[in-house]
Amino acid sequence: RGAVDPYASADDTAVEAALRPGHLADFEGQPRVSAQLGLVLAAARQRGTTPDHVLLSGPPGLGKTTLAMIIAAEMGVPLRISSGPAIQHAGDLAAILSGLVEGEVFFLDEIHRMSKPAEEMLYLAMEDYRVDVVVGKGPGATAIPIEIPQFTLVGATTRAGLLPGPLRDRFGMTAQLEYYAPEALEHIVQRSSRVLDVPVEVDAGAEIARRSRGTPRIANRLLRRVRDYAQVHGDGIVDRRIARAALDLYEVDELGLDRLDRGVLDALCRRFNGGPVGLSTLAIAVGEEPDTVEEVAEPFLVRLGFIMRTPRGRVATRAGFAHLGLSGPGEENG
Ligand code: ATP
Repeated sequence: RGAVDPYASADDTAVEAALRPGHLADFEGQPRVSAQLGLVLAAARQRGTTPDHVLLSGPPGLGKTTLAMIIAAEMGVPLRISSGPAIQHAGDLAAILSGLVEGEVFFLDEIHRMSKPAEEMLYLAMEDYRVDVVVGKGPGATAIPIEIPQFTLVGATTRAGLLPGPLRDRFGMTAQLEYYAPEALEHIVQRSSRVLDVPVEVDAGAEIARRSRGTPRIANRLLRRVRDYAQVHGDGIVDRRIARAALDLYEVDELGLDRLDRGVLDALCRRFNGGPVGLSTLAIAVGEEPDTVEEVAEPFLVRLGFIMRTPRGRVATRAGFAHLGLSGPGEENG
């Protein structure tokens, strides 16, 4: 999906490491989450214990991995990273957990995609810092309890609602990351421009921020594409004209909607006359996986007030029709 894909590409990974804020004080734009987390960490430090387990939810690219790294840095402990799909057997999880050092932060991305046996093992680990390793099969199988070091689990998921209740309940803190306000993204763009040593004029930074779909990962990526443009077609300085020309080239519209967002909105308004229509039908209409439509396009369109999720399916709003230059269903075209 090119420049506005909120999922990380291989090309992002190296640059992102350099652009990640290392401390909570530099983590822009999620004031409530920062304040809550700051309190949890300060209290744990004062008590000399490990912080409670933290669940982070929200669309991709909003800073879940960054926050896990910050938690480890603020606590002065190492960080271990894994993800739900990588843990298919309970044994995989037992191996990771028993290899942690005391106080370590364990970041488990896409935690909703773990296998059931692994999930059940995690319950016990989170609560009692113990895992039961089953040896043998059938009637002769026995569970051997193994103590594991105290650790802090930082779980990440695109939607907290995807997690079974018993798992959700075991987190001491749950934080929902929201799309960033343009001003916060502007600060992120300016900070990144200093790290990358690219001169970005103030109104150009604002333009990039506005078109970044509320997502820091996209802001950082668009900044890099705009930098290329300034280098090739200008004198390396990013001004508003350069920024606009580069962003138009990458098909990001004034509101930051990309091709998939527009495709979903367009199918909903034109093909399905505003809905209601089910997720899978909509996904087929735009040739995308239902998960991608649900996790990436929809939350942003909902946030802009262009579509609504209703029990009967997805519905386009009047504002959604208007963004495409259409009048709503049942209204006179004109
Ligand atoms: P995914 O779940 O897809 O991995 P994520 O939510 O974990 O996404 P991160 O990898 O943490 O997202 O962040 C993506 C990029 O955005 C990083 O390069 C990071 O530098 C930047 N970023 C995220 N949040 C912030 C922030 N609050 N302030 C500054 N930069 C940020």
